[in-house]
Amino acid sequence: MKKGILSILLLFITNIIFAQVATVSSPDGKLKLDIFLEEGQPKYSVEYDGKTALEKSPLGLLTNEGDFSKNLTFKEQTVEQVEKKYTQDKIKKSDIHYVANKLTSSFEDEKQRGLSIVFQVSNNDIAFRYELPAWGERRAVVIEEEATGFKFPEYTTTFLSNMMGAMGAFARTSPSYESGYTNDEPVGKGTYGNLGYVFPGLFRLGNDNWVLLSETGVSSQYNASHLSDGTKDGLYHIQYPHLNQNNGFGSRGAQIPLPGVTPWRTITVGNTLKPIVETTIAFDVVEPLYQPSQEYKFGRGTWSWIVWQDQSMNWDDQVKYIDFAADMGYEYILIDALWDANIGYEKMEELIDYAHSKNVDVFLWYNSNGAFNDAPQGPRNRMSTSIARKEEMKWLQKIGVKGLKVDFFGGDKQETMRFYEDILSDANDYGLMIIFHGCTLPRGWERMYPNFVGSEAVLASEMLIFSQDVREKEAFYATLHPFIRNTVGTMEFGGVFMNKFLNRGNTRGQERLTTDVFQIATGILFQSPVQMFALTPNNLTDAEGFLMDFMKDIPTTWNETLYIDGYPGKYTVIARRNGDNWYIAGVNAMEEAIELQLDLPMLKGEKVNIYNDNNKKEPTLINHTIKKDGSYKVTIQPNGGFVIKQ
Ligand code: CA
Repeated sequence: MKKGILSILLLFITNIIFAQVATVSSPDGKLKLDIFLEEGQPKYSVEYDGKTALEKSPLGLLTNEGDFSKNLTFKEQTVEQVEKKYTQDKIKKSDIHYVANKLTSSFEDEKQRGLSIVFQVSNNDIAFRYELPAWGERRAVVIEEEATGFKFPEYTTTFLSNMMGAMGAFARTSPSYESGYTNDEPVGKGTYGNLGYVFPGLFRLGNDNWVLLSETGVSSQYNASHLSDGTKDGLYHIQYPHLNQNNGFGSRGAQIPLPGVTPWRTITVGNTLKPIVETTIAFDVVEPLYQPSQEYKFGRGTWSWIVWQDQSMNWDDQVKYIDFAADMGYEYILIDALWDANIGYEKMEELIDYAHSKNVDVFLWYNSNGAFNDAPQGPRNRMSTSIARKEEMKWLQKIGVKGLKVDFFGGDKQETMRFYEDILSDANDYGLMIIFHGCTLPRGWERMYPNFVGSEAVLASEMLIFSQDVREKEAFYATLHPFIRNTVGTMEFGGVFMNKFLNRGNTRGQERLTTDVFQIATGILFQSPVQMFALTPNNLTDAEGFLMDFMKDIPTTWNETLYIDGYPGKYTVIARRNGDNWYIAGVNAMEEAIELQLDLPMLKGEKVNIYNDNNKKEPTLINHTIKKDGSYKVTIQPNGGFVIKQ
């Protein structure tokens, strides 16, 4: 009894000093969130398993109606349980059971205008957003900035990708989320030009915790945001798009109706990388925004542009790639840029008929422009207005095209988010799937938009063609994506090369530095429900037959994804299940071969095929029975990989 009084007293004193106003924990009790009010500013902190995940971090919004980051008073809190079961056909996992404790903390400013902050805390994830009621007669507000931040301990190291500057890179098409990564750097290192970092960002808190920050649920109703340059003591803020994006056209912030909400910001926490690889939080807190007009069929495709480039945009080469797709048993060909000028609309109808005669369906490339950059490739001006777009899509539906790859967007402003949504929504009306390139990170879009099937938003396969530096870092980047970019959204990388030289001749020039088995491993490591592979027709005769057979059978959809082993920037091993078949894939970015003792309980006593590199980096294939205890010792060569296929 005395002890009870003492602890109540202690809590009371603590609450006065730190002004704690609310608290909530995950269903398993390990992830704990506390809310404070300090000098009228709401703050929050996060602990996992008794260890810091985020120190006290600021909250609040700056609006055209006033500053909601200070002089607030706490009104009330409610806690309820959220439970949701759903199936999703184009992400890392198919059957998802989401359980969270939801804390709503309500505040008011001096004019009694309300602002609620909602935190949903599941076992390894926090999703939070601001919810605004109508303020008297006020039914619309502009959110200009946010005070929202994430404060890490000073000993934290970061795995981050720079936000690109506006109106730069190829034909003034940036930002397009195509920077590389800095790895294991101290907090607050700072990027060039105070541009900050794109979502998602990965943080390592010494030996305590891993934290992944991202954003989801961004539709036409908001801008997409990113992280600021961190301060030396580890504080990163939510930053809105740079005004210079879209040639300065459109605002940085968001105009929303009241009542209204912001997007969700997500914090994934664990003391290993397992929750980081396996999280589904980007999809748990969003819902489909419309029904699919039909059942969309995902699959594999060939595309000539990646290795044979612009010169291949002609009738004969496209026929070769259609035949190649048919030989591989692939569902699709992607006919990339310049088809309008080089083949022409009339001949395209014939070409598409030819593809159909070979049982191959067609994706067509479009320039998203428009008015916001200089990308010259055609077709142009067909996606950028509602009138042109619907006319074009009507024709596309008539000739049996199944999907579009729309390229070269202008950034993250609400202006551009509306454009993405308009394309997706119209495309669904005409039975078209959509892949975006030269684009932003998809933020929950796999679930929100039924016909969305992939985004680039990564330093992708094209840069392996263009840059020696990227070829040298190919393995390094590949070890990062399953922990960062690809864990929150599909990544249409356009890879898996069998050419030794990444050009049409395949005898000299851009030499590939990774092994053939590394390449097929990325076909499993990188997830997107539609994958355009960088194989070329000559690979049917000049590549290893058992690797091409592997590629003929490779799935692109998954029922389950598990972390097995790895460290971002060094090596990565993950497992994915398609139906009854597990695939374990790994790659190594270090200079030495690495030997790993894998624990594979899903393969106990199972007969498997194992693809690996020998020490001359040549591909090998063995049949093997995994031991009854599920253990398997694997060696991964530098710049090499392996795949275990059930
Ligand atoms: Ca690109």
